[in-house]
Amino acid sequence: MSERIRFEADRPVVLRGGTVLPMDDGRRILTGTDVLVIGDRIADVGPELPVPDGTAEIDATDGIVMPGMIDTHRHMWQTAMRGYGADWTLTQYFIWYYLEHGKLFRPEDVHAGNVLAAIEALDAGVTTVVDWSHGLQTVDHADAAVDALRSVPGRFVLAYGNLQRAPADWTAAPEFRDFVRRRITGDDMLGFQLAFDVTGDPSFPERPAFEVARDLGVAVTTHAGVWGATGDDGIRLMYDHGFMNAGTVYVHAASLSADSYHRIAATGGSISISTESEQSAGQGYPPTWAIRAHGIPVSLSMDTSVWWSGDLFSAMRTTLGADRSREHLEAHAKGDTVTHSGLRADQVVDWATRGGARALGRDGELGALEVGRKADIVLIKNEHSPVSFPLLNPYGHVAFQAQRGDVHTVLVNGRVVKHEHRLLGVDLAAAREKVERTVDHLRTTMGEEEWRKGMNPDIPQTTLLDNPYTYTDYHSDSTHTRRDSE
Ligand SMILES: [Zn+2]
Repeated sequence: MSERIRFEADRPVVLRGGTVLPMDDGRRILTGTDVLVIGDRIADVGPELPVPDGTAEIDATDGIVMPGMIDTHRHMWQTAMRGYGADWTLTQYFIWYYLEHGKLFRPEDVHAGNVLAAIEALDAGVTTVVDWSHGLQTVDHADAAVDALRSVPGRFVLAYGNLQRAPADWTAAPEFRDFVRRRITGDDMLGFQLAFDVTGDPSFPERPAFEVARDLGVAVTTHAGVWGATGDDGIRLMYDHGFMNAGTVYVHAASLSADSYHRIAATGGSISISTESEQSAGQGYPPTWAIRAHGIPVSLSMDTSVWWSGDLFSAMRTTLGADRSREHLEAHAKGDTVTHSGLRADQVVDWATRGGARALGRDGELGALEVGRKADIVLIKNEHSPVSFPLLNPYGHVAFQAQRGDVHTVLVNGRVVKHEHRLLGVDLAAAREKVERTVDHLRTTMGEEEWRKGMNPDIPQTTLLDNPYTYTDYHSDSTHTRRDSE
């Protein structure tokens, strides 16, 4: 056991002798390499670096040093319900959150979920998370969400949403504008996006919300290509009205035609893939196999811990699996054999790091280990794990061998927030107590019977959900043809 290192503010840190994945264009692998951090920036990368007096030294030998991972779509408030919906479909999720119980969440419940999700992210080496926060029923909820994010030393983007009301309504509220003025100050640790979906309703009721986003100069993130909820009609409306641009993040983008992918590619937006979610909830087949051909930038996300964990190792692994699985299946259907994998391990590591930085318009600052960039860094190293050696193929190791228990050290903005597998400056007991109070509140308010039924939902006999958005009755035959024909 090494002596405990004291990490003080402004004390430089060097990670010594690791296998460094800088995530540059050449996808280089630098063995026996040091990474020096001074202040909030990467000051140097190279072998046996000279360092300032008093630099804290972290032994990275036998470990992998890579950029902090970036999750571009996570409903952090839902982490308070961790694992509850393990057997849900998307329909059951919509019913539970959108129609029945989402409104039970008080500001303190959003706070509790966000704090736990934020801590979980740091622990797993996810240094930036887009909090796709669509449970903000009031500005008090939004203040609680930001308070929570501010209380944990990670980098976050608040993607403001409110699934209980039409996007045109909540974005027009004066208290929303006031919130943006008060809380979104341009601080590098807290970005801002607008989060809402586009139903495809030809009257385009989401238009005023897009105008607010344009007015504020912020990006829109939208669940697009979700079977039974959003599809090509929404993309076409966004395109025709000039609201598709380089900052737009299309989440899932699973049930879309090639025409929609052309529009996304042509306007420079990116797609956030939540493979575990798409595989199990039913948005459509995880689409990387299809969108790779269109050259659309990709980032990865975990979606929600009500089903899955906030762990991008899982995201990389399942994304490789789903992509390769589909390639084999498509080839076999034609009597062909895939002899070379189209999607490589280094590509999913890129999507988990630099892909996220690109999606957030922060390539050049985040997502790579390069002199001058922000020091968001992960050391994967586990001396007690038989899986940590031999380290022959570092990208393959990250994607298929490593797991979050192997995250040894994490730096965010130059600050060491995890070391020797222990989070620093995080009050896990307080987070637990808050989440327990939220669970208590929900369970008591719902009643034991309803609580149990929610976790073990029946197969509905008659209720078929046309769309989960209560502000429009719109539904499209194009996404419901199978259901109609049954
Ligand atoms: Zn989502």
